[in-house]
Amino acid sequence: MKNLWSDKDSKNLSGVEMLAYTSRLIGANPDLVVWGGGNSSIKCVEPDHRDTETQVMYIKGSGSDMRTIEKKHFTRLRLEELQLLEEREAMTDEEMVEYLGYTMMGGTQPRPSIETLLHAFVPHDHVYHTHSDAITSLTDTPGSQALILKLFGNELGFVPYTRPGFTLSKWVGKIAKADLNLKGVILDKHGLITWGRTAKEAYERTIGFCSRAEKFIQASKSKRTAPLGRITVKAGSSVERQKLMVDLLPVIRGTVSENQKMILLFDDSPEVLDFIGRPGAARASQLGPMTPDHIMHIKPKPLFITKPSNDLSKLAQQLKAGLLLYKKNYLSYFNRYKDPKLTQLDPYPRIILIPGLGMVTTGKNWQAAKIVQDLYHHNLRVIQNASAISRFQAINEKEIHRFEYWPLEN
Ligand code: ZN
Repeated sequence: MKNLWSDKDSKNLSGVEMLAYTSRLIGANPDLVVWGGGNSSIKCVEPDHRDTETQVMYIKGSGSDMRTIEKKHFTRLRLEELQLLEEREAMTDEEMVEYLGYTMMGGTQPRPSIETLLHAFVPHDHVYHTHSDAITSLTDTPGSQALILKLFGNELGFVPYTRPGFTLSKWVGKIAKADLNLKGVILDKHGLITWGRTAKEAYERTIGFCSRAEKFIQASKSKRTAPLGRITVKAGSSVERQKLMVDLLPVIRGTVSENQKMILLFDDSPEVLDFIGRPGAARASQLGPMTPDHIMHIKPKPLFITKPSNDLSKLAQQLKAGLLLYKKNYLSYFNRYKDPKLTQLDPYPRIILIPGLGMVTTGKNWQAAKIVQDLYHHNLRVIQNASAISRFQAINEKEIHRFEYWPLEN
């Protein structure tokens, strides 16, 4: 993984300017974060509105994109007030959000990241959180803890899967304080957190750990060349695919637009065709997302059309039936975790995988469909990498549901 750090560009930067610079370096690499994923923070001393030197923390505002992030997209909070919370035993999401509101230092600022307390409890000044493809390829396997211990020994802590919030923040703070030589932690089934005394150190640790994970994946791939099986569904020519899709897209759009008009994007890139053409993709694609942060965009799973017919009208019927079955299954999934406070979301898939043809992604507008498309490219890579290591394993369905219906994530 390329290290983009420039001593020249960062020479005169400090505080939130430095944080914005490093965050953009992270955002520049889609293998680390895409479309609003990840977050970053800096702790420093600055005068407050009374001109009193104050310990502050800047953290990425919820939803802003690290690729293009600027100073104004960060929120400034009183660090000491955040750190006081470490004494507490528990806190609900609502209590946490309310409390964070009181610690924000004046003016209109973006809503701070849900992982704010996690950053605040880490006793290091520069903290970065990413959903690296390489790292999640390791965490999304059944033996992730042993594997991470083997690869990163005592450099990185390991945190078993838990949903972001107060408990996770406390765990990470505890682990970081128990061993001040740790360079970060890995959040199982989720991503990587690195820290450092300087922005450069924390950034280079992110790049370093991801590069080591990439090397391990390459070695695993050279030992196990076709973990999802050899391609059994060959794609026709690009012209043939496009021609078929002209007739099929209206069938899909008509069905998925039952509740709201949806925009569809078609993707028959070699990477997609390669993945869906393999026999193991049908099952592996149904196991959940590479990181829970993607659920709100891509929903719990794609619709996979097994054995698509060569006959256009039969394939159209298969698609329609597949979409209706997906809806039926989605409603049962929603009802399995029924809660009167929850309003059911759209029951149709955001991703439709048709072996030999390609991937269709859906969204309320072009950008929403594009986000789904980009995210799924990363998901399918992680599925393939994890399958080369052992097999792909995501968080369980109950957690997927909790995440999909988590107000703070929506
Ligand atoms: Zn995350």
